[in-house]
Amino acid sequence: MRIVEIKESVVSIASEIKNAYIDFSKMTVSIVAIVTDVVKEGKPITGYGFHSNGRYAQSGLLNERFIPRLREAEPDSLLDDERENLDPFKIWNTLMQNEKPGGHGERSVAVGVIDMAIWDAVAKIEEKPLYKLLAERFTDQKALKETFVYGAGGYYYPGKNNEALVQEMRGYLEQGYKVVKMKIGGAPLAEDMKRIEAVLKELEAFIERGESAGRRLAVDANGRFDLDTARAYAREIEPLNLFWYEEAGDPLDYALQAELAGKYKPSFATGENLFSHQDVANLLRYSGLRPEKDYLQMDPALSYGLVEYLRMLEVLKQHGWSPSRCIPHGGHQFALHIAAGLGLGGNESYPGVFQPFGGFADHTPVHDSLIHLTDLPGVGFEAKSDLINLFYENFG
Ligand code: MG
Repeated sequence: MRIVEIKESVVSIASEIKNAYIDFSKMTVSIVAIVTDVVKEGKPITGYGFHSNGRYAQSGLLNERFIPRLREAEPDSLLDDERENLDPFKIWNTLMQNEKPGGHGERSVAVGVIDMAIWDAVAKIEEKPLYKLLAERFTDQKALKETFVYGAGGYYYPGKNNEALVQEMRGYLEQGYKVVKMKIGGAPLAEDMKRIEAVLKELEAFIERGESAGRRLAVDANGRFDLDTARAYAREIEPLNLFWYEEAGDPLDYALQAELAGKYKPSFATGENLFSHQDVANLLRYSGLRPEKDYLQMDPALSYGLVEYLRMLEVLKQHGWSPSRCIPHGGHQFALHIAAGLGLGGNESYPGVFQPFGGFADHTPVHDSLIHLTDLPGVGFEAKSDLINLFYENFG
């Protein structure tokens, strides 16, 4: 058994939307296909991979370092000792040969693209959906057949007023999401509070008796605020008891997060811009985040893939955190399978943006913020027609 071909390409996901930090007018994504010599139903098994929105395509790193290392590796050195399959852990070590520790930069994104394709191929070779394979190999629990998802959007874009924002959020609620997320920090505090209040008013129509609308809304500052601004927002939103307050300050400013955590009672979320298990360890040591109420959003498609994500979960365990506090960033099927297979708290979903990478299998509607996984072998990209067609167009 061996990898016979590795194909790489770049696609655009440019759009007019903005968060508090960046616009997406030039946003790109790297995609890969890893073709094996295992033939099923007359076709070679191929694993597909991509990375999440928000980091640009990684063609330089992929073509100069990571793909050549995989091509040059002795095929037998990449095989699983216990099964007739590729070994994602040995492949990860091959990719990371001659890479110094620390300073993770964006090589974690490049490695994550390849790692996703490897796991897709491995689960296809084993003829199992990835979530079942993960539950069997790494937990003593049964895989969940459905997982919590929340509808993320609420971006800023030219000419978008509160009515348009409310309409967007209503659309997600009508699609079956119970929790929605909107951006903050791209407008002054007073204006953002009006935006939040407009969405909360809309949410009133969807909540059950005795429930507060705030528990259905998360806000995301994308790391924009200094401590004073982060505190000012915290004071204003605390009485609303929101689902979470995400990335108030710089993702690596654990002291800022700790200052906030001492004074703000409802939940925080952060972690989508931490790309290694070492960074996660520092977050848990120094940020003051609370294992009983806060959320961690590390995204395996940006942070060296699932091999590294498993190490992050180990770090969580050492610090007394449950995997159920993890709700990864990215809104993609890979993290959805990881959530269902490893017992995470759920997954982000982008009902309206970042297509075709955002979103899950066709014909899997959301009910009560829960979504079913498909049982196709692998990550199930073949069940998402716009995405698989994009892979076919690029790789044949
Ligand atoms: Mg975010």
